[in-house]
Amino acid sequence: MARLSQSSIEQVKEASDIVEVISAYTDLRRSGARFSGLCPFHDERTPSFSVDPREKLYHCFGCGVGGDVIKFVEEKEGLAFAEAVEALAERYGVEIEREEEDPRVEEARRRRARLGELLERTAAFYVSFLWDAGEATKAREYLAGRGLGEEVLRRFGVGFAPSAWDTVLTRGQAAGYPPAELGAAGLLTRNKRGNPYDSFRRRIMFPIRDGRGRMQGFGGRALSADQKPKYKNSPEGELYRKKRTLYGIDQARGAIAKAGRAVVVEGYTDVLAAHQAGITEAVAVMGTAITPEQVQLLAQHSDEVVLALDADRAGREAMLRAQRAASGKRVRLRVAAMKPGEDPADTLEGVAPGSDAAEAFTAMIEAADDLPVFHVRMLLGDGDLSSPAGRDRTLDEVVPVLRSMPDSITREELEREVASRLEADPGLVARRVAAKERAPAREATVVRAPATEPPPPLSGRERRERSLLEMSIALPADGREFLERLTPEHLSSPLVARARVWLLDHLEEPMDGLPREDEELVGLVTQLVMGAEREPASREAMELTFLSLDLTMIDGEIATATEGGGDPPVDLQRRRANLAERIAHFETSA
Ligand SMILES: [Zn+2]
Repeated sequence: MARLSQSSIEQVKEASDIVEVISAYTDLRRSGARFSGLCPFHDERTPSFSVDPREKLYHCFGCGVGGDVIKFVEEKEGLAFAEAVEALAERYGVEIEREEEDPRVEEARRRRARLGELLERTAAFYVSFLWDAGEATKAREYLAGRGLGEEVLRRFGVGFAPSAWDTVLTRGQAAGYPPAELGAAGLLTRNKRGNPYDSFRRRIMFPIRDGRGRMQGFGGRALSADQKPKYKNSPEGELYRKKRTLYGIDQARGAIAKAGRAVVVEGYTDVLAAHQAGITEAVAVMGTAITPEQVQLLAQHSDEVVLALDADRAGREAMLRAQRAASGKRVRLRVAAMKPGEDPADTLEGVAPGSDAAEAFTAMIEAADDLPVFHVRMLLGDGDLSSPAGRDRTLDEVVPVLRSMPDSITREELEREVASRLEADPGLVARRVAAKERAPAREATVVRAPATEPPPPLSGRERRERSLLEMSIALPADGREFLERLTPEHLSSPLVARARVWLLDHLEEPMDGLPREDEELVGLVTQLVMGAEREPASREAMELTFLSLDLTMIDGEIATATEGGGDPPVDLQRRRANLAERIAHFETSA
């Protein structure tokens, strides 16, 4: 496939209305030449998200994200760059041209296709081995014992890996795949002497595919108790990325879109049991916690996600992490109340579609609580309600969760429930929820995700260096000179130094061709470009800012030189005095 031409990418950016695109995720209000609103990437109550309709850029001063309209669509809709361009092109009616592929990109694409094909062949082999080999009898018995029929096992391509050390190695080589490729596909491991052997042996194999059905890797379940680990997944690699993967999404995609909801269960056999019982919108996360990437992936297909996880401690923790993962995303998260120690595979074991048990499970999904409601009840259940002090602590924990809910009948009823459980006056609970946010640190840690920690405030030096870079963008003719005069020693961090180098080469169009994988750089350059419009720039201001950065640098050198005591070297003293004088001169003339 040929790649998108640069001019098409430009046309798409040109035609896109970034305010309209972003407005689907957050309400934007005009303020001056900009629009601002609550950040759709982190949880906040005062707007720090800014959109520049002219430059077509966004930036959040709270969490630091930023970029152009294509980047926004990539992030919010979980698309790759080319897919995001295509989505915008379609929306804004731009005809896309393609160019001959860069040979290296073409090569990487060919390699991924080859590895995918290798995984596909291996999956087919595991399937035939499960159904035909004598060695797989115990595996077939185990699966039958879990109530899983041949139809659903074949639909999901479940297989069995032989116990021999070299079956996949030998078969792969015979089919023309060298050990290096088998290794890159995650099928081989090397022992201490460097000899390769099959990664998956004597395991029930669950092929893991992306939403478009392309092979990503395998999950392998041990057959006997002495095999460690019990579950083994493909290593993270070119194809398999655990945090972006949802088991069963290829089978569940259509049903999720149709039902308008996704049901998240714990493991491979839970997914199979659910699908067999006719609950075909079920997927599993790879691990205990759902990641923001997975929430995003699900949000592409539906706006409601029901977590049907074992309600024991681990499951509860997973749900709270899910809440953080979903913060700022337009997804309604709900929790189906499973009994402690119970999971869907038990409940649905051998259950047929339309049977009473399947109906009961569906009813439980439909009656799922919103996550905040679940969270509040969990805190009430865990709290020490026997003493006034314990009830106060529980109230402290519950208030921020209540506050995160929209003002609604659901919230009001929950407030009454809280009041009654805490033996408190309903008015007290309501007042606490309505009170201006003044959350003690303990509360904040309960509800806030790490990604939403506000960045530390900038130091004076950092503000000055950013201001100089912004002015350089605003006045590129003079700016180039100052960028050249700056050295890495003037700058407070390698990131700012990278931004300087980038601007030296791209001062006219700083946003064009930014390396998108370098998220920090994209964030900083976006912020600088947006700042460039706001900052009143002049050659004098640039000179003064440069001199003050120079002064900071010399002060640093002096500090280093006098660390062990003694006077600073004369040349440094002279340079400093000279500089201070020039700064004073500038300040008086300005
Ligand atoms: Zn933000």
